[in-house]
Amino acid sequence: MPNQKKILCSACLLGVKCRYDGQSKPNEKVLALSKKEILIPVCPEQLGGLPIPRVASETTASGEVVLAGQGKVVTKQGDDVTENFIKGAQEVLKLAKTLDIEEAILKQRSPSCGSCQIYDGSFSKTVVKGDGVTAALLKQNGIKVISEEDL
Ligand code: SF4
Repeated sequence: MPNQKKILCSACLLGVKCRYDGQSKPNEKVLALSKKEILIPVCPEQLGGLPIPRVASETTASGEVVLAGQGKVVTKQGDDVTENFIKGAQEVLKLAKTLDIEEAILKQRSPSCGSCQIYDGSFSKTVVKGDGVTAALLKQNGIKVISEEDL
């Protein structure tokens, strides 16, 4: 189809079983959009070298703070996985630049993909304002990031 847009998309929203628990999180609006536009599935945590399944992680600060070296990403067991999250974000950005992508639809509240909402790092399901690490890096590079909840 002519004039189709290329949009990065959290792979789990398209039904890929890449979440920490080995499951996916298919979203009907995202799946409907995939019939009209070209959605490029990415899972930053997988691209950062983390396995599926994996121990759930949360950030201790918003993504831009983590990228600046002043926050961390830790698993529920206390392991520091900040490097994996930053590497995954960089790989997603590389792909976006290679494919001239200007927009992304990323899974809300994920420590990688969340845009404007993330968990607070206490593993108590407490939501705070902030971006995941990948969402923050994409935004810093001029890429528009929305969540599936914005569709
Ligand atoms: S990192 Fe993003 S794409 Fe991967 S499972 Fe988490 S929310 Fe989905």
